[in-house]
Amino acid sequence: MLDYVTDRVQDESRQGEVFAPGPETARSGKRFYIESYGCQMNFADSEIVASILGAEGYGATRNLDEADLVLINTCSIREKAEQTIRKRLGEFRRVKERNKGMLIGVLGCMAERLKSKFLEEEQLVDIVVGPDAYRSLPALVKEADSGQKAVNVLLSREETYGDIAPVRLDSNGITAFISIMRGCNNMCTFCVVPFTRGRERSRDSASILREARSLYQQGYREVTLLGQNVDSYYYVNEETDEIVTFAVLLEQVALIAPGLRVRFSTSHPKDITDEVLHVMARHENICKYIHLPVQSGSTRILQLMNRTYTREWYRSKVDRIREIIPGCGLSSDIIAGFCTETEEDHQETLEMMRYCGYDMSYMFFYSERPGTLAQRRYRDDVPEETKKRRLLEIVALQNELSLESNRKDIGKIFRVLIEGDSRRSDRDWMGRNSQNKVVVFPKEQLSLRPGDYVNVFIRDCTQATLLGEARA
Ligand code: SAM
Ligand code: SF4
Repeated sequence: MLDYVTDRVQDESRQGEVFAPGPETARSGKRFYIESYGCQMNFADSEIVASILGAEGYGATRNLDEADLVLINTCSIREKAEQTIRKRLGEFRRVKERNKGMLIGVLGCMAERLKSKFLEEEQLVDIVVGPDAYRSLPALVKEADSGQKAVNVLLSREETYGDIAPVRLDSNGITAFISIMRGCNNMCTFCVVPFTRGRERSRDSASILREARSLYQQGYREVTLLGQNVDSYYYVNEETDEIVTFAVLLEQVALIAPGLRVRFSTSHPKDITDEVLHVMARHENICKYIHLPVQSGSTRILQLMNRTYTREWYRSKVDRIREIIPGCGLSSDIIAGFCTETEEDHQETLEMMRYCGYDMSYMFFYSERPGTLAQRRYRDDVPEETKKRRLLEIVALQNELSLESNRKDIGKIFRVLIEGDSRRSDRDWMGRNSQNKVVVFPKEQLSLRPGDYVNVFIRDCTQATLLGEARA
């Protein structure tokens, strides 16, 4: 149980996912293999890397043994995430012993954090590339091919990869991520992201709209606009002087087609505006779901974290969401055992969770990261046992809240977008409602397909899933 909660990331089931788009077509005969770890941004970045390598004639493979280039897109957010990568590199060593010509490249946040130190620490690594340097990957591969170790970890103030059409991971053909910005300016004291992903920059809105339109034309029915802090999206069109805020962008994407659902992640509580909430309320196809990480329920701890809001302020933001978008789904990220956290602070976090009635949370215990403000300013003084016990209490409460929230949905009818077969049985469909809850229902004789919308009557639930039946 503890292992499970120590390193929950955005999508547990996708960690280490191997990327291979469609039929394997290597023009130059060379093949790359890529595994991704960490947040959704990393998975979206792997699709950009695939596009860059594809243009060089590299084909993708899911078979590690036949790859000429093995890439691992890494995460640094917690120590456990880095340990997972180190372990995986150890496994790559054995493959490289069998295939001496194979190159191994480390991408992403851990590459950025450790830079050339990575090459010293992990002898088998040939290439180290930070998140803003993927365009240089083909040149780095050539350099490494000639026997030199190759590194590019330069961070950029401009790079958004806006002009690169990501090669989609062939997961379900229905839902896709669109990166709308990169980096983060927030400087939450516990967080390594501002150091590994650099300054915040917003991508050209026209290229975002083009990507969303093209996905819709290809049959995709849901896009998730991605960024570390989407509500601070801000782009000025130099030709028209049009100012595009997140509210404007969200509405423009929603207007592409009523059949295209729009989601977004992540919202920093300090930046989500009433304007965004009103846009959500106005458009049926903008999902009624907000991921609004609280991190802690104690104002004192929130201040130490530099989250720039108080407990009361966060609660009033949640009240406002409920007022403008009744029935909106709400989820959170919570950190247990941040520096100096007392039992009282912890109780305030539990109280906050009850007040907000989160449908779901990603829960972690605090992991000190080198170079962060917290590591430089505070002592990581909550004993590991206490952190873990508090985390278990948080998880137990969240389980109760999730079940309670799902039970309230019994007897309701939701519009569900079918994503594919349920994990448990190919006789059931799996989809999501607007609130982002997973809905499972029997296929029966209705001739439905992934990508279809269907009304589902909810007759039962578990803590994680709503169970229902399709209504014609
Ligand atoms: N930008 C998003 C935000 O502010 O909510 C998400 C950033 S991060 C990729 C995802 C989550 O990891 C954070 O919300 C936080 O709860 C958690 N996290 C970040 N640094 C951490 C640390 N040092 N220890 C434990 N959890 C951490
Ligand atoms: Fe990290 Fe805070 Fe930025 Fe999120 S908003 S990426 S937690 S610094």
